[in-house]
Amino acid sequence: MDSATVGKHPCPECGGDLQWNAAKQSLACPYCGTIVPWSPAQEALGEQVAELDLVKALAEHPADQRGYGDDAQRREVQCQSCKAISVFVDGKVADRCEFCGSPSIIDHQSLGDAVTPQSLLPFKISDGQVRDSIRKWYGTRWFAPNRLKSAALTDTLKGVYLPYWTFDAHVSASWTAEAGYHYYETESYTENGERKTRQVQRTRWEDASGSLQHFFDDELVPGTVGVHQALLQQIGTFPTTTDLKPYSPEFVRGWLVERYQVDLRQAAQRGEASMQEQTRALCSADVPGDTQRNLQVQASFRGRTFKHILVPVWLVSYTYGSRSFQVLTNGYTGQIAGERPYSWVKIFFASLAALIVAMLLLVVFGGNR
Ligand SMILES: [Zn+2]
Ligand SMILES: [Zn+2]
Repeated sequence: MDSATVGKHPCPECGGDLQWNAAKQSLACPYCGTIVPWSPAQEALGEQVAELDLVKALAEHPADQRGYGDDAQRREVQCQSCKAISVFVDGKVADRCEFCGSPSIIDHQSLGDAVTPQSLLPFKISDGQVRDSIRKWYGTRWFAPNRLKSAALTDTLKGVYLPYWTFDAHVSASWTAEAGYHYYETESYTENGERKTRQVQRTRWEDASGSLQHFFDDELVPGTVGVHQALLQQIGTFPTTTDLKPYSPEFVRGWLVERYQVDLRQAAQRGEASMQEQTRALCSADVPGDTQRNLQVQASFRGRTFKHILVPVWLVSYTYGSRSFQVLTNGYTGQIAGERPYSWVKIFFASLAALIVAMLLLVVFGGNR
């Protein structure tokens, strides 16, 4: 499938380039406002979201040069502060880093060997919904400084497609361990010259072994550096196994795309480490008895495949003092997570108020003594 041909969907009214509209869940023309439904034929392509062979790709070194679509207009810039690389599909480059607000951004030479995203999750949550939920989220953060209130916070709201890798694999694992079974013995002892008895827990150890099979489907590894990792974990997961659409430039035109900086090799290592860890936990759960020790796991993976995908997030980034803060919303589920500065002024007055109340109580009750 050639992403360049899939992407040719001019507006039927004016011939302009169509863009994905999250609120309407269809393509829209930014020039004349015409709405063009995402066609069932294109929908059917969703079933063709391809898994690529990982072993082959790592051996060959990926040399996929199709680019992100309208190559002539495409520009990449890198932030000198947070190192995030932004891809602008329509050539309109911002004058500040969208991730941290730094003005020092420079052109980034794409090496041409970048892996093109095969598929993506188009935005489902519209900017209106996000603004509402950010206001609510902010309203519950009492110690945040007033200066950040309402409008200012959502000023920098940006829809960003983040790069992710997904890995599939079948694992066969065999394990050995010592399974411990608790039992109790009555023990007698002397305390202050008196004989007493007590129950003592002991453990009997038995050798155990077993094996298991498991299929890992879409183990996700983020390739982003622009978004703070702790926040990524808090906005929940993305339904990549069910809802991915084949990559098409309409989905990303007019949105910001971050280029991956965790490459396939690094990502594959992280994915495998995570699968190893989960396999170990699965084996551990199979060990019988009340407790266990010396768990040894032999795992072998086969049928390893990967995809490079884009997932949608809404990002607010702002600096306060010298630090950069982000508020992140899952563009598919709406789950929100954010960082905020604490207002020391508010905290000071809150503490002062508590102190005054304490002193008053002391005066009132102390005076009655
Ligand atoms: Zn149009
Ligand atoms: Zn930056």
